[in-house]
Amino acid sequence: MYDVIIVGGGPAGLTAALYALRAGKSVLVIEKATFGGQITWSPKVENFPTIESISGSELGDRLMQQVENQGGETEFAEVVSVELDGDIKRVTTDYDDVFEGKALIIATGAKPRTLGVEREEELVGNGVCYCAVCDGAFYKGKTVAVNGGGNSALQDAVLLSEGCSKVYLIHRRDSFRGEAKLVELLEKKSNVEFVLNSSVTALKGEEELTGISLEDKDGNRRDIAVDGLFVAVGHGPDNGIFAELMALDEKGYADSAEDCKTKTPGVFVAGDCRKKTVRQLTTACADGSAAALAACSYIDSL
Ligand code: NAP
Repeated sequence: MYDVIIVGGGPAGLTAALYALRAGKSVLVIEKATFGGQITWSPKVENFPTIESISGSELGDRLMQQVENQGGETEFAEVVSVELDGDIKRVTTDYDDVFEGKALIIATGAKPRTLGVEREEELVGNGVCYCAVCDGAFYKGKTVAVNGGGNSALQDAVLLSEGCSKVYLIHRRDSFRGEAKLVELLEKKSNVEFVLNSSVTALKGEEELTGISLEDKDGNRRDIAVDGLFVAVGHGPDNGIFAELMALDEKGYADSAEDCKTKTPGVFVAGDCRKKTVRQLTTACADGSAAALAACSYIDSL
C-alpha cells in the first residue's frame, strides 16, 4: 500500500508527489497519456521562475525525473474505477491493476474544448488539430489557420509560423486575451494574418480538410483554403470518472477551495481540474504542494 496515490502526472500531480516524498511518504503517480501533462504542448515556457526558457516537454521530463530520483513510483495507465470510502482508497486501472493508498490526489488537469462546428470530430487527424506542438510538423510549408484568442492560440500561431507558409489567426473578437508580447511578436511576422471579429462556421473537404468558412460580426462570409485548422478555444476539466465523486462548479471543475480538499476524507484535488481563476503552470504547482501537504496531515492523523 502507498501513502499517497496521485492520479495525473502533470505539473500539479508531480509537484504533489515531490512534496509528499519530501515528507517521507511513499507515492505512486498514475498518468494515462503524457507525464508533464498539458505543459508538454507548450513549445516554450518563459514564465516559470528561475528558468529563462525551456520547452514544455523538457520541463515535463525533468519534473518526472525529479520525482523518480526522490523515490516516487510512476505508472502509465488510465484509472477506470475507484473506491474512496473508508481509510483505504483503491484505484483500478485499465490494465486491471488495483492500487491501494491512504490518501488520493486527483490532478487530472484540463482538456481542449472543441469548436462545435459540423464534421469537426470526423476531420480530427485529417486537418483538424488541437495541439500545434504535437501535429505542427505535418503542416510544414503548408497553409494553416489557428482559431482562438488566448495564450494557447497565440503560442500555436508563433510555432506554426516557423514552419508553415501562411498562418491565419482567427479570433471572434477584435482583441486578444493572451499575452501582449506574443501578439507583438505575431504582428511582426509576414506570414501571419490576423482575421479578427470572425468565427469558423464550416469545414470544407471530403476525406481531408481543404478549407474553412468564416463569418464576421457583420454577417459577411468568406471561404479560405487551408490544409490544417488548429483549434485553441480554451480548455475544460478532464475529471473523467471523478466527476461523479466530487462536488463540481457550473463548468464542471472540482469545487474545492485553496485547501484542495474534497467532500471525501482523504481525497484531494489539485491543478487545472479544480475551480480557480488563474490556470497557469505556477498555480498548478502551488496546488500540488497544498494538496500534498493536506494529504500528509490527513495520513498523520489516521
Ligand atoms: P483561454 O485563455 O480561455 O482562451 C480561449 C480563447 O478561445 C478565447 O480567446 C476565447 O474567446 C476563444 N473561444 C472560446 N470559445 C470559443 C468558440 N466557441 N469559438 C471561437 N472562439 C472561442 O484558453 P487557452 O488559450 O487554452 O488558455 C487556457 C489557460 O492556460 C489560460 O489561463 C492561459 O493563460 C493558460 N496558458 C498560458 C500559457 C503561457 O505561456 N502563459 C500558454 C498557454 C495557455 P474570448 O476571448 O472572446 O473569450
